[in-house]
Amino acid sequence: MVNKNPIYILKEVFDVEKAFVLGYNKEALLEYYKEKALKCRRCPLYKTRNRLVFGWGNPYSGVMAIGEAPGVDENRIGKPFVGKAGTFLAEAMEKAGIDRERDLYITNVLKCIPLAFPGSRKIRPPKKEEIRACSYFLEKQIQIIKPRLILAMGGFALSYLLQREVKITANIGQIFEIKDGIKVFPVFHPSKIIREDKEEVRKHYVEDLKKFKSLMEELKES
Ligand code: SF4
Repeated sequence: MVNKNPIYILKEVFDVEKAFVLGYNKEALLEYYKEKALKCRRCPLYKTRNRLVFGWGNPYSGVMAIGEAPGVDENRIGKPFVGKAGTFLAEAMEKAGIDRERDLYITNVLKCIPLAFPGSRKIRPPKKEEIRACSYFLEKQIQIIKPRLILAMGGFALSYLLQREVKITANIGQIFEIKDGIKVFPVFHPSKIIREDKEEVRKHYVEDLKKFKSLMEELKES
């Protein structure tokens, strides 16, 4: 019997690079690179993760949201933004009129949790060499999804996308344009907002997401 599974076809019949050009089934392409990431040894973080956190959402939306790295809950479940910060993000997006499953594809700069030390529950910031190593997968995701708009959540995502070190605080509310005309809109990482735990700050965050939603609408119409 012929195997019609798109991943099988991709691996056995197509040249993956050709599949990119042909605009082949995006889920299959993402699944192909997720499988590669599961075997990845590009940096030492594969040794301490429980679950790889590759990405989630609608790859046909033309919109991506990129955070920093998986947290403890994400590492346990294998899905991005499912812990406290993720719950806050989902609520804030809902208030801004964004459906996080339908309206965007969400991922992180790193696909494995950067633990302070093996066995720890403490997370440290990503190292430059880890970001460099894992950029292989983020670049593939961007090539497959072809976003017109990206929500950069936090300084690590924004610095990566702009390819220079920038402070998130100084850039909130600005719109950047990067390669292929992709627009980048920076917001704080949701974990910073829940750490601050101030109603005022939470409200501001929703307002920033509403601006992002307006950009989404503008791009849809253009
Ligand atoms: S963080 Fe990225 S580069 Fe490092 S092991 Fe995980 S998938 Fe590979």
